[in-house]
Amino acid sequence: MVATMRTEPFWFSMKRRLCLATAGAVVLGAYIGLRTQSAVSQAAVSYELNDVHFHLTNYVQEGTDIHAFLKLMGNKVGRVALFGIPLQQEWSYQNSGDFAPTYYLQTDAPLYYYSFTDAYIAMAYRSLSKEEQARFDPMITGFNPADMYAADHIRRVLKTFPGVFSGIGEFTIHKEFVSAKVAGETASLLNPALDRILDFAAEVGLIVLIHNDMDVPFAKAGSEPAYLAQMKSLLKRHPKTKVIWAHTGLGRVVRPVTHHAATLEAILKDPQFGHVYFDISWDEFAKYLVATPEAVKISADLINRYPRPLPVRHR
Ligand SMILES: [Zn+2]
Repeated sequence: MVATMRTEPFWFSMKRRLCLATAGAVVLGAYIGLRTQSAVSQAAVSYELNDVHFHLTNYVQEGTDIHAFLKLMGNKVGRVALFGIPLQQEWSYQNSGDFAPTYYLQTDAPLYYYSFTDAYIAMAYRSLSKEEQARFDPMITGFNPADMYAADHIRRVLKTFPGVFSGIGEFTIHKEFVSAKVAGETASLLNPALDRILDFAAEVGLIVLIHNDMDVPFAKAGSEPAYLAQMKSLLKRHPKTKVIWAHTGLGRVVRPVTHHAATLEAILKDPQFGHVYFDISWDEFAKYLVATPEAVKISADLINRYPRPLPVRHR
């Protein structure tokens, strides 16, 4: 999810409810870009895109220095939703000896929640000038979504770093290869701790970016997507919370469900889900979008049919 991924150029020219979010491309940017015109220098108007999905750090809390990243953004990327990774990949000597894993697929050792990521992101943001800060939307992600106290962590971070954070996420409920490795109680869409988090986000006006696979890996063809109904009822329980569903619920091996575009359209056109957005970030998602000319056409048509700007914090 780091600044190497780009999708097909024709994506950049749309303003839709489907957010283009490779580690550099966000259609909604055009909307957000317009709003930031006053805060950022004249160069802003020439930005090509904004990004709603950028992890500054990896699974061992290392990553790009924010000033170096700003140089990478250059005059192409206007504004970026910025967050860390809420999970630390443990380096277990018993498991991998001297080999220091940096990704969750490199070891069987567990993952555990790492709350310091929020302080790290806040201090990186604070090291920027006012004008540079206007190009970032830091998000809180260092909490355990299965913990009823998670909402209290979010409140504490907001109080500790006033004026820094715009939203929460990306945080994860069901994710292939990851959820089963997380130490402690497994996160669930049915857990009231998650409802407390979404209620609090609505109360203080934080946008929510959630990673939740729509289905299980290697699901039987034509079977009911494992987590679609639960996710829809969660979204219905929180009509006042703006929610971005990352990667439209897909992953490395969690493939598009049968009639995936139609499944998304059913949500996009249902007024009950007027508060729901999708991002299409990550190479592992983009590969499905560009798999065939037909997939490209279906995706582009869907994006063209659902123009809705994303509500962003004014600067
Ligand atoms: Zn994700």
